[in-house]
Amino acid sequence: MAERKIPTAVQAVLQTLQNNGYEAVLVGGCVRDMLLMRPVHDYDVATNAIPAEVVRIFDRTRGTGIKHGTVTIVSDPECPVEVTTYRSETGYSDGRHPDSVVFGATLEDDLSRRDFTINAMALTPTGQIVDPFGGQGDLASKRIRAVGIPTERFQEDSLRILRAVRFAAQLSFGIETITFQAMTETKRGLKRVSRERIGQEFAKIARASWWGVMPLLASGGFLSALEEPLPDLQLHFEHLASIPKERQENWNATFSKTSTHTRWLASWGTWLLYDKSPEQTAKKLFLRLAVGKKDMQAVGSIASIAREEIALWPKSRWREVLFQKGLVPVQIAAKIRDGFALNHQVNYDKLCSLFAAEQPIWSRKDLSVTAAQLMALGLAGERIGQAFELLCNAVLSGESNNTKTNLIKYLKKSLAEGRV
Ligand code: ATP
Ligand code: MG
Repeated sequence: MAERKIPTAVQAVLQTLQNNGYEAVLVGGCVRDMLLMRPVHDYDVATNAIPAEVVRIFDRTRGTGIKHGTVTIVSDPECPVEVTTYRSETGYSDGRHPDSVVFGATLEDDLSRRDFTINAMALTPTGQIVDPFGGQGDLASKRIRAVGIPTERFQEDSLRILRAVRFAAQLSFGIETITFQAMTETKRGLKRVSRERIGQEFAKIARASWWGVMPLLASGGFLSALEEPLPDLQLHFEHLASIPKERQENWNATFSKTSTHTRWLASWGTWLLYDKSPEQTAKKLFLRLAVGKKDMQAVGSIASIAREEIALWPKSRWREVLFQKGLVPVQIAAKIRDGFALNHQVNYDKLCSLFAAEQPIWSRKDLSVTAAQLMALGLAGERIGQAFELLCNAVLSGESNNTKTNLIKYLKKSLAEGRV
């Protein structure tokens, strides 16, 4: 532990609280990640000082989460530190949020309201781990286990069901049997969780890749418990789960070397590989899970391309698809085919790069003629757009090369034939 460097701003917050006679510890995800030697993205401090005291002690604070006992210390604006008062919670009548938060709790009370044993540990400034529920043992056994009685904990807050799957995916852990049973027994509660929160957890799983938790996704039936179920998508998980293990592992090996964003796109695309109409379903899925529209189109394209035997495409088809969909979806689809080792004779990724290197144009902006030059030929209004389209097609099909002289020649001929 000692070799892990805790940021100076965080150490200063712990020290100041202690100097004022309060307890101060690090809790939750940061302790878990430090013990796993994983990168820590935020350090959460817990204290027995009530929020008003925390505000009094520090010069620069932000009180956005004060209702829940959280004060953010911004002494170092580069490194804001969240300080949360030890609390216990009562009543979860909406299946998601506690009805009331009670301060004046002990560290142990505070740890006992946390979701999983690996998230319910604290680290004191002297380097001691406070671990009342066996979190360190579960880290060593690579196991997600609920704190307390699992069914009760999932009934209190159904989001924890998906958090369990998400941590299992991110950490490559298993879920302890009784905890998993409780998750499937209580999954109906997911209906009460907002689609944004569900989407966020699915997005985190997609970034890590589905494969580590595919048996859970396939057998857990968590999607059919959603308010607006996506039955086909649940079936797709079952289908993917039946793909031979070596292929799944090969997929993982392929995308463990790529950027997180590439892996995220590949995960969603792979999910839709067996869909009847991936482009439409991608839209529905992203909307239903509130994932944001940015990658919706790319994901649909990836799925629809990856299931074609692209090694048999003629050059004209490669050019057309690269032009219409852009390089990223095509390259990811190619990598998916490599990942599944669908054809040992072909390196799809390389094949895609070869065609990409020869792609004459990626958009109409790459044409060697400008709108002004088309206008000089007497074209106006929507006929300019039509002419651009015609010229793009001519270059992609190889009927004309992309030089100004040839394009103008081709266009004049087309005009004479009444094609524009
Ligand atoms: P991440 O790496 O995703 O930030 P994290 O463990 O820090 O993981 P957060 O969502 O940031 O997760 O929550 C911080 C801590 O708060 C958790 O480690 C856990 O102790 C507690 N916690 C968060 N959400 C819940 C919940 N729904 N139920 C119980 N405890 C929770
Ligand atoms: Mg966190």
